[in-house]
Amino acid sequence: MINKSTLVQGIGITNKRVSGRLRFINKEKSTDKKSTIYNVGTELLRLDEAIKRAKGKVWELEKRARELVGGNEAQIFEIHAMLLEDEDLNELIIAEIKKGKSAEEATRLATKHYERVILELGDEYLSGRASDIRDICTQIIDALSGNEKDSEQIDGQYILVAEDLTPSQTVLLDKSKILAIVTFGGTPSSHTAILARSMGIPALVGTGKIDYLLNGSYALLDGAEGTLIINPSETQAEDFEKKRAKENKIATEHERYLRSLMNKPAVTGSGHKIMIYANIGSENEISGALSNGAEGIGLLRSEFLYLEKNSLPSEEELFSTYRDIAIKMGGRRVIVRTLDIGADKQIPYIDMKKEENPALGLRGIRLCLGSRDMFKSQIRAILRASHYGRVAIMIPMVISVREVIAFKELLEECKRELSKKGIPHDSKIEIGIMIETPASAIISDKLAKEVDFFSVGTNDLTQYTLAVDRQNSSVSGLCEENHEPILRLIEMASREIHKQGGWIGVCGEMAADLSLTEELARIGVDELSVSVPYLLGVRGKVSECK
Ligand code: PEP
Ligand code: MG
Repeated sequence: MINKSTLVQGIGITNKRVSGRLRFINKEKSTDKKSTIYNVGTELLRLDEAIKRAKGKVWELEKRARELVGGNEAQIFEIHAMLLEDEDLNELIIAEIKKGKSAEEATRLATKHYERVILELGDEYLSGRASDIRDICTQIIDALSGNEKDSEQIDGQYILVAEDLTPSQTVLLDKSKILAIVTFGGTPSSHTAILARSMGIPALVGTGKIDYLLNGSYALLDGAEGTLIINPSETQAEDFEKKRAKENKIATEHERYLRSLMNKPAVTGSGHKIMIYANIGSENEISGALSNGAEGIGLLRSEFLYLEKNSLPSEEELFSTYRDIAIKMGGRRVIVRTLDIGADKQIPYIDMKKEENPALGLRGIRLCLGSRDMFKSQIRAILRASHYGRVAIMIPMVISVREVIAFKELLEECKRELSKKGIPHDSKIEIGIMIETPASAIISDKLAKEVDFFSVGTNDLTQYTLAVDRQNSSVSGLCEENHEPILRLIEMASREIHKQGGWIGVCGEMAADLSLTEELARIGVDELSVSVPYLLGVRGKVSECK
């Protein structure tokens, strides 16, 4: 039955076609629902085995973390290994099993109790370990239910399948192993899709639930048609290969043509020049950006530097990353967007209260203005980096002049602090805001007087204008049909910023939509900022515009 060919429809994130085996993660746990057992001996054996496996897994994670983010971050896994060996905790779990609980339930009860005892001690360091204890609980339960075995089942590369992936899970993925990503939910403008696109990984989102029993099956993912064929028939596989070969040939020829334009300015037929910039989330993307002709960085999504850490990055860490990016860009403009967390970008080590409607909650500039120390440390790091290149600073989620003024006051305060210590920085650093809310476009006449440039975040501008949740695949189709209100808001903002002598860019996914390039050029957009794989295509398209 399971070998029957199954066709799954979703939304393709790139046009690529890939084939490989499916690997499910975050799947529903099947065995941890069990709460009462009859054989104490069996449960004790299961526990023993599970702890051994969990330890093996923790050391594997330690090794990966060390390679990916360095020794300091990897220490957390050493602590996890120590906790797994903690005799008091082990005895607590065993005692629960002896009372007649399943190994899973015993682990849950014992770790909860252990966590409570630690918190009651009131010791700051030990309190900080509470989340590690919760992690350990999950590790043991995963090992008991066999969930941790997944990564060992498939050698080599695979198509990752998940109900959903958070942006932090996505940045930590081992990219060398992933052929493509498939998520049950999500939309083309959700952050996971954006990350996949910038990492050059084909993705299919909004597929709806796929049966976990298909884990390990061979499948064909067609990004152009938005399909996934699981256990394809011979005819389907042949057909797919033919299309793939033809596509690859066309793509190679087209790329050769686009590369010939790479070092020429992007100018429309009527003489309007558009700067072609790159959207990046990390320093690793710079070389790709430069080799694809980026004239600058239009959006450094600075939150990804926070998402890949286990604790708040220090000013020094931020500074050294921004400085290195500025230096590598060699005098080209680098626009650092200040921390935009909240909504789907949650950071566990920052106390972010659970919200009923997080997209309408404490995110972006609202959150930062309420966390002065954290915000100022980032602003100082950006200012310090501005001495090493052409750095600009931009704030997200603006709805009022008050927010911009509050930000500018903090910026001045940071400049004064740096000057007092004799630390060099660009005292005339360019300031921009994102136009991501209808409010910011509507009052763009006033906002334009406060800043040097606007950058339109069409992903959020679309979400808030059309009242279409950017994470919800059931309504994402509405965005395709309703560009007009968004384009009108961009036109309004463009007119106002130009009146004040400033400039406007677009850095949301709309900037990469070649069917809208002509219209964006007509509106007078001065810059288009897109993820690296789209740089060549957008430059080519601008030169074809009237
Ligand atoms: C946007 O909203 O269009 C944008 C570029 O910001 P993000 O996608 O990171 O929310
Ligand atoms: Mg946004």
